[in-house]
Amino acid sequence: MRAEVVVVGAGMFGSAAAKYLSRAGADVLVIGPESPDRDEAAPLSSYGAHLDEARIVRRLGWDRLWGTLDARSADRLPALEAESGVEFFAECGALALMGKGVRDRTREMLRLCAAGGIVVEELSTAALGREFPHLGVPPVAGGVDGLLERRSAGYLHPRLMVRAQLDLAMRAGVRLMRGAVTAVRKAGRAGPWILHADVDGREAQVETERVLVATGALINRTDALPPGRELDLQAFTEPNLLFEVAEAQLDRLRTLPTVVVVDPEDTGNDNLSAYLLPPVRYPDGKWYMRIGPGMQPLVRELRTTAESLSWCAAHTVTREQDLFLRNAMRVLVPTLEPVSVRTACCVVDKTPTRSPYIGALDGDDGLSVVVGGNGHGARGSDEIGRLAATLVLGETWDFPLPPDVFTPKWRTRATGPETGRPDYLTPPFGLC
Ligand SMILES: Cc1cc2nc3c(=O)[nH]c(=O)nc-3n(C[C@H](O)[C@H](O)[C@H](O)COP(=O)(O)OP(=O)(O)OC[C@H]3O[C@@H](n4cnc5c(N)ncnc54)[C@H](O)[C@@H]3O)c2cc1C
Repeated sequence: MRAEVVVVGAGMFGSAAAKYLSRAGADVLVIGPESPDRDEAAPLSSYGAHLDEARIVRRLGWDRLWGTLDARSADRLPALEAESGVEFFAECGALALMGKGVRDRTREMLRLCAAGGIVVEELSTAALGREFPHLGVPPVAGGVDGLLERRSAGYLHPRLMVRAQLDLAMRAGVRLMRGAVTAVRKAGRAGPWILHADVDGREAQVETERVLVATGALINRTDALPPGRELDLQAFTEPNLLFEVAEAQLDRLRTLPTVVVVDPEDTGNDNLSAYLLPPVRYPDGKWYMRIGPGMQPLVRELRTTAESLSWCAAHTVTREQDLFLRNAMRVLVPTLEPVSVRTACCVVDKTPTRSPYIGALDGDDGLSVVVGGNGHGARGSDEIGRLAATLVLGETWDFPLPPDVFTPKWRTRATGPETGRPDYLTPPFGLC
């Protein structure tokens, strides 16, 4: 089989990139497996960070790069829903509780929003209590500033957003192969690229001029890069707890926005940074509130394939992760009386640049990547995919920062794996 461009990975970035590539006139094949059932043993290439029901959306960004990615994507969500006919966005608002110790940062974030016409309300602790009586304010040293976005903010349903992107991509001519790439190599110095894929146990071979690898946080573990090469990027456990909400509490708690706490104090696992989703309906028909941590030490690095597989398959968080998350939920929603509590184990990736990697590797236009959501890539995914398509096709760059801020880096002996605690693992952790 042949295609002009092959996108490896049908997740949040790959599906968006495929849509933009085909709309620009490229002949595109996407290769990506079906989503596994939660309880089924599956190969590592089947897991994705989009296999959940809710990802926080806001336009208030930690910096100009993420703020622009997030705002451009969020502004397009209504059109994406309308075009695809798939509803995946809930505009329940997004609240950031920013420790006062990062006030300079907060002011800069507000300045960027004001310049972009994004309305963010500042709420004092008293105002927070009036607006959200069921929300507890975490005891961050020095107090918090509440920043509330009501419009174009809330959460998106990541599986459905991927479905919407793939539907639109296929309407534009993209072909979809349900399988996993098992090897990527170049036939001689001048190409083409040859990809091997496992499709229902049968081997398929695809020849292409350009490969865009979009295989997510476990990119270094899933055979979609040339043999022996790894990107300078780390994968981490992302432990979540899902608190089942009783019918009697549902109406009150559904008025909550999404919440993220930014605690700038470097106090290890006592750091209070966390994120919280309001009640969301899951495939079992029940409503759950989901909570996750910042990048406290309890969020551990996944260094090997075996560690990664066991984390993804077992759905067991550690005791310290469990205690941390239960405590965070008690602080943030003190009146919650859950019917049950269950775990969800996902993986996030962190790049040393803190930006996504988008672009060619080794200066070879034939092999590009789009990866590095840094734990919050879902909301900016449409723009991230668009930028990837722009670079793969060599089209005019129209982002306010130059393309080299996204340049991917290989891991070398000098760059890793990390031995000490990298600076992105010290607070403040940013906005999940
Ligand atoms: C618990 C958790 C909470 C999060 N919360 C938020 C949030 O609130 N807001 C937000 O914006 N972001 C959030 N994120 C991050 C966001 O989900 C990710 O940044 C985003 O999904 C990254 O998209 P991706 O395309 O890089 O990876 P993915 O969405 O993981 O897609 C990668 C795809 O590649 C496929 N693949 C892997 N190997 C192969 C192979 N060899 N061949 C073919 N296909 C392959 C996988 O099956 C998968 O479908 C969260 C992540 C987690 C884990």
